[in-house]
Amino acid sequence: MSSETMKTWSYSRWKTYAQCPYKAGQQYVHGVREPSNAAMDRGSANHDMAQKYVEGTISIIPYELAKFEVQFQTVAKRDDVYCELEWGFASNWEPCDYADGWLRMRLDTFYFKSPDALHVTDYKTGRVYDENEKQLSLYALGCFIKFPSIQKIDADLWYLDHGITRASEFTRDDVPDLLDVWNARVAPMLIDTEFVPCPNQYCRNCYHSHTKHGTCIF
Ligand code: SF4
Repeated sequence: MSSETMKTWSYSRWKTYAQCPYKAGQQYVHGVREPSNAAMDRGSANHDMAQKYVEGTISIIPYELAKFEVQFQTVAKRDDVYCELEWGFASNWEPCDYADGWLRMRLDTFYFKSPDALHVTDYKTGRVYDENEKQLSLYALGCFIKFPSIQKIDADLWYLDHGITRASEFTRDDVPDLLDVWNARVAPMLIDTEFVPCPNQYCRNCYHSHTKHGTCIF
């Protein structure tokens, strides 16, 4: 049995682990990565188009983003928008280089609403999952750490296929609780060496399933 643990994490790593430790272990400890598929490619393409439109590389809103045309137009007019920034955080949550991060975070888009307020947006392709709102709390925590003057964060998920927004608000008073919550969430993942399979509704499409010639018994 391997005694390796997961040394670094991200929201997507934690989300995968929460769904199935075996899947996370295969992908992030043993390096058995699922090849890209049509859904992943579509998500990447949408992110790429959104970044290009917000940064002004393209001037016509792509069909895939059209349900958020007004919102994208508003954001693209700003001159203080940041896209696809990569941040790293050490295990004491101090900021560090992305490559050295214990936690690694990539924010789709954010801008300063005022000197003490940020607006953060994460783009989603595909179905609406309430679970995704946890991602906003992690990104808000990262923003509060990166920008000590920020007191309030409005964070949105934009479900590009549906035109649905899920919005959350955070204040600096939330930081101690957010640290406690995220430290507790990731602690079991970061000491796990067994990565036991957890059968679930996604097994039939799982790359690691024995039905797809993977090594999982399910
Ligand atoms: S088939 Fe199911 S139990 Fe096995 S790794 Fe995939 S998600 Fe986990």
